[in-house]
Amino acid sequence: MGKITAKDFIINAFFPKRCELCGKVINPHYDLCPECESGDFYIKNEICALCGVEKEYCVCKKRKNSYSMICSPFYYEGGAKTAVLKLKFGENRQYAKSLAKYMAACVNERYQGIDIDEIAFVPMTKRQIKERSFNQSELLADEIGKLINKPVRKYLCKVFETKQQHTLKESLRKGNVLGAYDTKVKDAVSPQGKTVLLCDDIMTTGATLNECAKMLRLAGAKDVVCVAAAITKKRVDKTD
Ligand SMILES: [Zn+2]
Ligand SMILES: [Zn+2]
Repeated sequence: MGKITAKDFIINAFFPKRCELCGKVINPHYDLCPECESGDFYIKNEICALCGVEKEYCVCKKRKNSYSMICSPFYYEGGAKTAVLKLKFGENRQYAKSLAKYMAACVNERYQGIDIDEIAFVPMTKRQIKERSFNQSELLADEIGKLINKPVRKYLCKVFETKQQHTLKESLRKGNVLGAYDTKVKDAVSPQGKTVLLCDDIMTTGATLNECAKMLRLAGAKDVVCVAAAITKKRVDKTD
């Protein structure tokens, strides 16, 4: 880390460097602000491969899913939460790039022995895309594809609107997305025999990823592994 030069100073005056997660203006020699750098929202330790959180926070009781593993660089907290919200509501390209950098690193580290063939993403309905003009999961998949050098495929479509998962009680979420996704996309190639990396922005109960993975499996995918930009940490009831 050198000193800030006159050139840096001028560039920074017009285009201040921002923390790649929370967006705060920062010292141009860094990528993160001190709060994000030292934040406790990173998923660093050994994880439960079935629900993606560090073992101490796993409450999934080893429940089997249609995907074989899930990983994420972050809990949905602090600077990571800010970045996901910025991705969804506004400065999407830039934050898709930042988040994808961490997601790709996570995939490379956690899925070392897995030969990923292709990348898929959780789709939105045509109406949702029209309203928002982009699908944040697709933006993430595109950026991850560039970083890990794998093609992104539109394997999935969303056939009807569902209530937003986060507005529902956990017990209702599985039913809410049941049958909402399909693999019959016009002109789509088949995931037959492929190991697919499925991307989404936030993973809460995993019901959406599970439903999408189920459809990929039914269409012949050999294996489905997932990556999310952030995972909601479930509350562990500690009695003490
Ligand atoms: Zn920050
Ligand atoms: Zn678990």
